[in-house]
Amino acid sequence: MATATIPDEKLAVAGEIERSQETTCCIVGGGPGGMMLALLLARRGVQVTLLEAHKDFDRDFRGDTLHPSILEILDQIGLAEPLHQLRHNKIYGPTLQLADGGFSPVDFRRLKTRFPYIMLIPQTRFLEFLAAEAKKYPSFRLCMVANVGELIESVGRVSGVRYQSTDGWHEVRAQLTVGADGRFSKVRHLAGFEPIKTSPPMDILWFQLPHLPGDESSDRLLGGFGMGRALAVFDRLDYWQLGYIFPKGQYQAVRAAGMEAFRRSIVEIEPQFAKHVEALTEWHQCSLLSVESSRCPLWYRPGLLLIGDAAHVMSPVGGVGINYAVQDAVVAANVLTKPLKAGQLPVEALAEVQRQREWPTRAIQALQSAVQRRVIATVLQSKGPQTIPWFVRLFFRIPVLRDIPARIIAFGVRRVRLQDEG
Ligand SMILES: Cc1cc2nc3c(=O)[nH]c(=O)nc-3n(C[C@H](O)[C@H](O)[C@H](O)COP(=O)(O)OP(=O)(O)OC[C@H]3O[C@@H](n4cnc5c(N)ncnc54)[C@H](O)[C@@H]3O)c2cc1C
Repeated sequence: MATATIPDEKLAVAGEIERSQETTCCIVGGGPGGMMLALLLARRGVQVTLLEAHKDFDRDFRGDTLHPSILEILDQIGLAEPLHQLRHNKIYGPTLQLADGGFSPVDFRRLKTRFPYIMLIPQTRFLEFLAAEAKKYPSFRLCMVANVGELIESVGRVSGVRYQSTDGWHEVRAQLTVGADGRFSKVRHLAGFEPIKTSPPMDILWFQLPHLPGDESSDRLLGGFGMGRALAVFDRLDYWQLGYIFPKGQYQAVRAAGMEAFRRSIVEIEPQFAKHVEALTEWHQCSLLSVESSRCPLWYRPGLLLIGDAAHVMSPVGGVGINYAVQDAVVAANVLTKPLKAGQLPVEALAEVQRQREWPTRAIQALQSAVQRRVIATVLQSKGPQTIPWFVRLFFRIPVLRDIPARIIAFGVRRVRLQDEG
C-alpha cells in the first residue's frame, strides 16, 4: 500500500541522515487540528513533536470561525478566558437579505452554552495562541520550516517521518505519526490513502473590504443573493470579510469578465459596498477556495493516524471545518493518551478514533450536500429575486425545531468533550 516510505535499513546508511530525534507522537501540520492535539497531549505529559512546513502561522485566509464547541473545550482547560482577551468579534447567527425582507433563521443565543456565539478571530492569532500555550510544557517541541517528505516504515508499521528544513533532511521517530497536514495531505498520499471526493456546486472567492466611516458594525453573518451569485459578509472589526460564491468551475469566467464587472456584481448584491469596492483592484487580493468535500475510507495504519482535513475535507456550508478538525484532535487525545503513555499503541485504538469521528463527519457531510443541492445550486442557477418558501419560515418558528440547525452548526452532530485522563 505504501508508495513512498523508506525502509529502516536505508536510514541506517551512515551520513544519510543529518539529525534524528525520538518522540512519542509526531504530528505533521500546525493547523487547528494538529496544534490542538499537540497541546492536549503535551499538557498530559506525552512527548510531542509538531512539524510545520511554514515559517510562521501567517498565511492566506482559511477561516476565522471558532464555534461554541471549540470554546467549551478551551474552557475545560482554562483557555477560553485568555483567548477572549485577544481582539475578536462575535456573531450570533446569519441574516439573509431577500427580496421579501431579512430572514434570520439561526440564533445561537438560545443555545445552552456559556459561549452562545461564533467567535471571529484571525486563524493566525488562534494558532499562535495555542502554540504559545503548548510551549509551556516541556514535553512539547515545535519545528517550523519542517516540510515532511517521507514516511519511515519498519515491519509494516509507520515509525516516523523525514522532513526537509533549511539545513537539510532530518528524521523524527515516533510511536505514533499523525497526519494533520490539511486538504492536500502529503502524509495521506505517502500512506497510500485515496479520499472519496464529491464536488459541491460552488467555488468561493474570499477577500476583504475596508471599514469606512459611518459603517454600522454587525454581529450577524450577512448573506445576499443576486444574478446567480451569493455573498457572505462577516464584520471583522477592522475590515469586512467577504465570500463571493459562484457556480463551480467559473473562476476563469469571473476573471475574464474583469475587475470592474466583479466590483459591479458585488454592489448589485450589497449596494452598501458601493464605495468600499474601490479598494479592490487586483485579483491577488482574493483567495480562491475551490470547494470540495471528501473523506478517507480509512484514517489509520499501524503507527499512523489522519485527522482534520487530511481525513475529511468539509464543504464550507455551516463553516464547520475548523470545528471538526479540533473535535478530531480532542477525540484522539481522549482515546490515545493512555496507550501512548503506556508505550503500547494497538491499531484498535486508532480504529476507535475513526469509529467515534467518522459517523459525525459523514452525517454532517450528508446535511451539507442536501443544502448544496436544494438551496445553493438553486440560488446559483436563478437570476431572479430570492424568497424563502413559507414552510421553511414555519420550521424556524416552531420552538422544538428551530434550534436544531443552530445546535448542529455550534457542536456538530455529536458534542465532543475532553475526558479526564483516567
Ligand atoms: C479559503 C478558505 C476559507 C475557509 N473558511 C473556513 C471557515 O470560515 N470556517 C471553518 O471552520 N473552516 C474554514 N475553512 C476550512 C478550514 O480552514 C479547515 O477545515 C481547517 O483549517 C482544517 O484544519 P487542519 O488542522 O485539519 O488543517 P489545516 O488548517 O489545513 O492545517 C494543515 C497544516 O499542515 C501544514 N502542512 C501541509 N503539508 C505539510 C508537510 N508536508 N509538512 C509539514 N506541514 C505541512 C500546513 O502548512 C498547515 O499549517 C476554510 C478553508 C479555506 C481554504
